Amino acid sequence: MGMMSLAQRFSEFVQPGVPLAPYTTLRLGGPAEYLAQPRSVAELADLMKAAADQRLPTRVLGLGSNVLVSDEGVKGVVIRLSEPAFRQIDIEGTRVRVGSGTPLMDLIRESTLRRLSGLETLVGIRATVGGALRVNAGDRTGEIGQYARRVQVLDRDFQAVWREHDELKFGEQSSNLDDPVILSAEFELDIDSADAIVKRMRKAWILRQSRQPSVHEPTARLFRDPRGLTAAALIERAELAQAKVGQARLSERHANYVVTSLGATSRDVLRLLEMIRSKVRESSGLQLDLDLQIW
Ligand SMILES: Cc1cc2nc3c(=O)[nH]c(=O)nc-3n(C[C@H](O)[C@H](O)[C@H](O)COP(=O)(O)OP(=O)(O)OC[C@H]3O[C@@H](n4cnc5c(N)ncnc54)[C@H](O)[C@@H]3O)c2cc1C
Repeated sequence: MGMMSLAQRFSEFVQPGVPLAPYTTLRLGGPAEYLAQPRSVAELADLMKAAADQRLPTRVLGLGSNVLVSDEGVKGVVIRLSEPAFRQIDIEGTRVRVGSGTPLMDLIRESTLRRLSGLETLVGIRATVGGALRVNAGDRTGEIGQYARRVQVLDRDFQAVWREHDELKFGEQSSNLDDPVILSAEFELDIDSADAIVKRMRKAWILRQSRQPSVHEPTARLFRDPRGLTAAALIERAELAQAKVGQARLSERHANYVVTSLGATSRDVLRLLEMIRSKVRESSGLQLDLDLQIW
């Protein structure tokens, strides 16, 4: 069994050498050594165990809006929780239980249909529920963590366990959810009128669209906002607005987003990042930390 490749052993849901570009918002980068789309928690746990035995790294990919895949591709196993078992939404009263692979937009739509309020100001954030929880996605008007009652994870011993409300910590663009996989979550929402919810949603949508690249552009956010400042302001102050390297440039709508055009490579984005970092360091003395994860 030891020498059998993961793709042979788990042939029904693991494929070797799958291009990851279509699964990221930047639409860049090379293949995963293995791409896995397990159909149950049991399959996921078996796969994680086998990967650990073979010392292969594992990574979970959500909607890929915060990931830059290198041109060379990614070693080990990339897991997408895209199968129905990880995309279920169950609503009981004001309690919503949802699989981590569910796109946030689907969760917002379902909650709104039931007149459940809370998550509607997250409209327009491209994320899965798992990816959003990990970084407490949102902004000053609301964050996903506020509504999370408990979160189910696969822990380092490959056991599915619940992290209860009092164990969960959400900060600005951060959480203490550091288990290998977030499996599902329960949210507690508020009852409100459809009118009021839709009004707040529309307002959040308009605001967000005005501050980020169009949904049709391949894009990602680059840097974390330093305490009390914004990365975009530092970039603008360094006169780097709309800076460009190869086919990667900063968005004209928001200086902290990269946008690419046809023929771009991950290397273009990496070079752009480095250029911006070093020029901002020169002009302000501040070190910008990456928000984007490089795989
Ligand atoms: C145009 C645009 C606008 C954005 N606007 C906002 C915004 O307003 N507010 C905001 O907070 N963010 C925003 N983001 C950033 C991005 O949406 C968030 O970082 C989001 O949480 C990423 O979710 P994802 O599912 O795409 O995760 P991915 O980008 O696929 O992955 C990000 C990280 O989360 C991990 N991860 C994903 N799913 C799981 C899981 N189930 N279990 C364990 N780990 C997991 C991945 O391994 C990776 O480390 C924006 C991004 C873009 C491109």
